[in-house]
Amino acid sequence: MTESPLDLAELSSVEYRLDSYTALLRSFRSAGYTFSRFDPADPPETGEILLRHDVDLSIGRALAMAERERELGVRSTYCFLLSAPVYDLTRPQNARAIRRITKLGHDIALHFDTRTYWVADDEPSAESVAAKVTDELDVLGRLVGEEPSAVSFHIPPSWVLDRSFEEFTNTYAPPFFSRIGYRSDSSQKWTDADPFPDGLPDAFQLLVHPGLWNATHRPMAEIVDALRQQTHGQVDGYFDRLG
Ligand SMILES: [Zn+2]
Repeated sequence: MTESPLDLAELSSVEYRLDSYTALLRSFRSAGYTFSRFDPADPPETGEILLRHDVDLSIGRALAMAERERELGVRSTYCFLLSAPVYDLTRPQNARAIRRITKLGHDIALHFDTRTYWVADDEPSAESVAAKVTDELDVLGRLVGEEPSAVSFHIPPSWVLDRSFEEFTNTYAPPFFSRIGYRSDSSQKWTDADPFPDGLPDAFQLLVHPGLWNATHRPMAEIVDALRQQTHGQVDGYFDRLG
């Protein structure tokens, strides 16, 4: 592979290319970090990174990223939505891709969209949250063959932040969030910003969205527009054929 580690102290921007991502991982490795899992019994300590992927856009991009990580001996956690209009986990090829990701040594988790059940940021009861989340964990578990326990909330409302739930492992619970560093690649913001302006935290959770990283840099607006058109085309085609 051609990608050398990046000089994190000099980093002012990152191109959202798979090669740049690989170089970023190599620099974490060179800095001595190891990669761990979302395990409440074994919270991250100094020198550990919790690498989390929210799959909002593309299972194919997730698999490509998972393969790269495997080559580097990096383990991470892939979080999938049951409610995304851009992919359907019940399609056999998607279920196969997810099983492949587990075979590569990564963990599978649920990406949960509160807006599927509740309006905007209205806070539901803890029982109601637990019931809906465990329902979805059960379905995801049947699809991937083993029930996941970790849950990441999609576009998290404030009431899920820094909170632990008894029934499942919240990736925004204090041991994984407020007690360590937290960084995210959301909206391709590293295109013109240093991901680590204050240096590397002792331990941190890193959220990377696989759908934003391609073989060559593609602006997020272009990625989203293409998926929007494709999804609209599928919906229109379905209704058109009904006559
Ligand atoms: Zn999301």
